[in-house]
Amino acid sequence: MKPAPFAYKKARSLAEAVALLGENADARLLAGGQSLIATLNMRLSAPSLLIDINGIGGLDGIAHKGGALEIGALTRHAQAERSDLIARHALLIARALPHIGHAAIRNRGTLGGSIAFADPAAELPACLLALDGEVDATGPKGKRTIHAQDFFKGLFETALGAQDVLTAIRVPAATKDSRVGFAELARRHGDYAMVGLAASARADGKGLADVRLAFFGIGATAMRPHKSELALASGNVDAAVATLDLEPNDDLQATAAVKKHLAGVLLRRVARQLMEAR
Ligand SMILES: Cc1cc2nc3c(=O)[nH]c(=O)nc-3n(C[C@H](O)[C@H](O)[C@H](O)COP(=O)(O)OP(=O)(O)OC[C@H]3O[C@@H](n4cnc5c(N)ncnc54)[C@H](O)[C@@H]3O)c2cc1C
Repeated sequence: MKPAPFAYKKARSLAEAVALLGENADARLLAGGQSLIATLNMRLSAPSLLIDINGIGGLDGIAHKGGALEIGALTRHAQAERSDLIARHALLIARALPHIGHAAIRNRGTLGGSIAFADPAAELPACLLALDGEVDATGPKGKRTIHAQDFFKGLFETALGAQDVLTAIRVPAATKDSRVGFAELARRHGDYAMVGLAASARADGKGLADVRLAFFGIGATAMRPHKSELALASGNVDAAVATLDLEPNDDLQATAAVKKHLAGVLLRRVARQLMEAR
């Protein structure tokens, strides 16, 4: 299918993009286009105007500052995959990136687009939640920062307002005690996950502390099973699996019961990764 007709404007500044969103109630921002163009082609969405943000300077930097790693919204998945800074300071994101679609998609798709789109089966929203990260957005009232746990509101729904542009994400930079784990099950490599798990923790003596497990592909947003996190922090993997406090949805890929079983399988794999020294 072809998309419904739309107008196109290339914004040259954040202020211009925000103003254009204000003037056109059903406009959409265009970043990498890897999700948006598919929804237009399938006529799931028919905006009257696409506002291309690829010409706005300064949105694709990756910087280590103030104990955090900041990644600009227009950073392509492929650019992030090659980044030494991300490999060194945000290993969880580095491990997740190769699971996103295929090379052609990663060449165009952006980290900001993936976080703003908030697909429930996407890898990066779960990483942001597991790493206790945050999102910067600029709207008509200026810039604000939104914590990951307050950002993902529901199915493809975020805390971004109609006139907000996501400008960057930030995660705490890894320390020598940081531990991360990532695993997903998909029918073919590059497909969206049936179930996935992004996790972070802090090594604490021979055990773990601050365990954060973010399962994706199981509900409207990535979800944290808090009882399992506590069990894993006490070193009991069997208890972490037995108490998995998740209520997956049935979807086209698998039933809720299968997803819950797979979540347990992933939890054991990721627990081993978390317990390994870096
Ligand atoms: C075949 C295929 C397989 C894929 N597999 C996966 C996968 O396994 N895992 C995965 O995570 N993704 C997958 N994707 C999606 C891919 O990761 C996209 O790149 C990503 O979801 C959206 O990024 P984008 O830059 O392309 O955003 P776009 O498609 O340009 O935009 C997506 C949405 O986000 C909004 N948006 C974009 N940027 C901003 C911003 N800065 N501020 C506010 N709103 C913004 C847009 O208005 C739009 O509503 C796949 C895509 C395809 C086509």
